[in-house]
Amino acid sequence: MRLVLIGPPGVGKGTQAGLLKSRLGIRHISSGDVFRAEINAGSELGSLAQRFIDAGELVPDDVTVGMMARHLETKDPHDRGFVLDGFPRTVAQAIALDAKLEPTGQCISRAIAIEVPDEILVERLGGRRMGKTDGKIYHVAFNPPPPGVEVITRSDDMPDVIRERLRVFHENTRPVVDYYRDRGKLRTVDGMADLEVVYAEICAAMYQ
Ligand code: ADP
Ligand code: AMP
Repeated sequence: MRLVLIGPPGVGKGTQAGLLKSRLGIRHISSGDVFRAEINAGSELGSLAQRFIDAGELVPDDVTVGMMARHLETKDPHDRGFVLDGFPRTVAQAIALDAKLEPTGQCISRAIAIEVPDEILVERLGGRRMGKTDGKIYHVAFNPPPPGVEVITRSDDMPDVIRERLRVFHENTRPVVDYYRDRGKLRTVDGMADLEVVYAEICAAMYQ
């Protein structure tokens, strides 16, 4: 299974991709997580990406595509596929992804768009916390971290940056939904339900 999860920031892509990874044994490849790891490692790529991330803007396509192409590759003969979270975010990235996968015969099986109204996203992102050591996703009210787990707040989960990220989603990433719809690969899931219900809907959508 080779899945793309598409949706605005805060819709639950990372949460659902984490469940798909742990339950189906597929790889979870999050462009945002890869950028944050590069920033933490103090790499050149990390410092280039940081100023875009802090402003809520997209990292340029050529940088993002090159980085994701490296992370998609695997030599594991038992590989069960992957779920992409946060990539592609522009039509140019979607085209580059298809061009990368086509020669391998391992094309995207499904793109799942998760939908939640913007007002709810602001509430979700404002309460999002991440495990300091494992990056696991929590919410102060909806999915609180267990006692003793140290959490951090993402620097881009601040009100001004959240608004800009939502604007960027509607301008740059909405067309990616149409890209997959035009190719018959799109399925849509309501992201407002409890996370286990959303998970079940994603699993059903994979084979519809
Ligand atoms: P994304 O990866 O799309 O930005 P996340 O998976 O990080 O979104 O989720 C954003 C926030 O919303 C997190 O705090 C997460 O715990 C919470 N969340 C995710 N799914 C749900 C849900 N179905 N109901 C309520 N809160 C959710
Ligand atoms: P995320 O963790 O998916 O919310 O991503 C955090 C930030 O990383 C985004 O706001 C962008 O600045 C950057 N980013 C992540 N994925 C991409 C992408 N596919 N294209 C461009 N920028 C990205």
